[in-house]
Amino acid sequence: MRSDGVLDTLTSLLNADPDVADRQQVGEMIRRNSQLRGWVDAADIRFARRLRELQAQGQSEAAGMALTDEGRRSGKEANATENRERICASFPALEDALAVGAVSADHLDALARLTRNLSDIERSDLHFVADDVVKSATNDYVSEFERKTRNLIDHIRNTHAPKDEAAELDRQRAESAIKRWVDKASGMHKTLIECDPIRDAAVHAAIDAQLARLKQQPENANIPFGTLRIDALVASVSGQQPGQVRIPEVSVLIDQHSACHGRHADTICETSAGVPLPVSTVQRMCCDATIHGITIGDNGEALNVGRELRTANRAQRRALRAMHRTCAHPHCDVAFDNCRIHHIIAWILGGPTDVDNLLPLCEQHHHLVHEGQWSLTMTTGRIAAWMRPDGTIWHTGPTINRTKHGHQPDEPTEIAATSPPGTAPPDTVPAAGYRQPSLC
Ligand SMILES: [Zn+2]
Ligand SMILES: [Zn+2]
Repeated sequence: MRSDGVLDTLTSLLNADPDVADRQQVGEMIRRNSQLRGWVDAADIRFARRLRELQAQGQSEAAGMALTDEGRRSGKEANATENRERICASFPALEDALAVGAVSADHLDALARLTRNLSDIERSDLHFVADDVVKSATNDYVSEFERKTRNLIDHIRNTHAPKDEAAELDRQRAESAIKRWVDKASGMHKTLIECDPIRDAAVHAAIDAQLARLKQQPENANIPFGTLRIDALVASVSGQQPGQVRIPEVSVLIDQHSACHGRHADTICETSAGVPLPVSTVQRMCCDATIHGITIGDNGEALNVGRELRTANRAQRRALRAMHRTCAHPHCDVAFDNCRIHHIIAWILGGPTDVDNLLPLCEQHHHLVHEGQWSLTMTTGRIAAWMRPDGTIWHTGPTINRTKHGHQPDEPTEIAATSPPGTAPPDTVPAAGYRQPSLC
């Protein structure tokens, strides 16, 4: 809005009296007020931009601080202004539209939210269709604009989505996060966990196990389900009731052909909740799991459930623990008890569960070997060779590291039979026992 337009709008508002206005006049005042608000918001954006330039020259604090300090805004509002400025740098037409009241700051805020986590390439794709974004912002109410833009961004994301499902799971693992805040209005403490499907299954298996235990206690008979569920969550993360806590299990289902040879037209490879998983991930899980073979009839009915098979037994774990203090990766010091037992030749491909075919690997390096497509071989004397995905050798060397530093291999105390206890490294799947039935 040009300055004379702003003055006209302001003058008409100063001369208007909403207390005696009829419906049509109030509507006109609302429209003019919105125009003026757009101009004010656009001016804030220009202030933020100039402050950013001055900050780059060492002549100003951050724009958000100045807006909070001199504009008496909340941190949230100052932050929103900075985000609007960033959006307008990418979509200059939106700033012009805001200044004349053709779009609202809410449109810009919605766009800032939707584009927050875009990659550079996704962002540049969105710029190709900037005209469509601006057109929708100008024509549509905020909710409709948000819906259309979200669809557009989903489409762009799908175009660049990793074709490799293991890479998709890697992305989800990398983007997993916990956020914690206090809601000022209610005083409630909130925690948001965003995670990949395997971590999610492990978390909920732990909660469900605690919930089942709490439900059996007579004193909990009249406690509402929601309260009991929170108690179960707290118990599962705080290690309450030691000795009674079940080790969390993640159940996954995979058909035998997929497990051995990869995907086919009728592959089943998913969590018990039906969330699809990469075959390489389930193959990794098969290294160190309890496995049930299930025979499925023509109509999909389970005809026969085989006996439980443990891929590495207690005695084998003891033997391995006596030799390996840590993960077998040469640069890794994750303790044995936080490792998975990896089959050098995969169990599902007929690799024997003999100590000569087993090595402890932490989650990260176990992941590297399966989803990361590195290869690991082991020869007599437990000499391991690590090969990159292209087949070139990265490292060859001994893996035994308990005796060579002068530690005698004590007979270890028996720990859990089903899973390495202890806490997994922060960037790994929780040290949860998992159990994978396979369909035969
Ligand atoms: Zn493995
Ligand atoms: Zn490791």
